[in-house]
Amino acid sequence: MKLLEDRIREDGLVLPGNVLKVNQFLNHQIDPDLMYKLGQEFVRLYQGEKITKIVTIEASGIAPAIMTGLILHVPVLFARKQKSSTMNTGLYTAEVYSYTKKVKNTVSVDQKFLSKDDRVLIIDDFLANGQAVQGLIDICKAAQAELVGVGIAIEKSFQDGAGLIKEQGIRLESLARISSFADNQVHFVGDEDN
Ligand code: 5GP
Repeated sequence: MKLLEDRIREDGLVLPGNVLKVNQFLNHQIDPDLMYKLGQEFVRLYQGEKITKIVTIEASGIAPAIMTGLILHVPVLFARKQKSSTMNTGLYTAEVYSYTKKVKNTVSVDQKFLSKDDRVLIIDDFLANGQAVQGLIDICKAAQAELVGVGIAIEKSFQDGAGLIKEQGIRLESLARISSFADNQVHFVGDEDN
């Protein structure tokens, strides 16, 4: 998606450890117009799939997820990283190792919000090694929900996540695909300079 690639070129900062900082529009300050356009693109890509629920993970997946849910008029469920005092029993949980924070989190959703009647689209901000998405896939499996596919804003295609998802036969749509951070620049899949 050219709009997103242009914005990454403009505002993205490459940090050590293959981390892209996009605090201008996605991970801290959020550009709602851009998020809405990401939502429109996910809806276009997954047209006709009769999605009943968007599933994401807090915090940064919520912005693109909620815009997608808004356009489709379906609920957006985010997996929580902290145990809530009001959420103790009846949970689907998964272990997720955080790429940026280097800690393991148990993420959970309330069983009452996900069921075998759901057709789920998983959405997240970044795909690196695929641990966050895998946790959400595991949660969907535990709920026996039908997984329609995964929608990612920014995929780092040189890391393992995309392969991990696709080898399970799961559809993956990423709106910007980064091929490398060579020379501290962002290079996209399909760029002429690759
Ligand atoms: P994974 O679980 O695929 O290894 O990593 C995905 C999660 O880690 C995303 O939910 C995102 O929060 C975070 N993440 C991974 N890589 C990056 C990155 O380059 N920049 C930012 N801002 N977050 C990232």
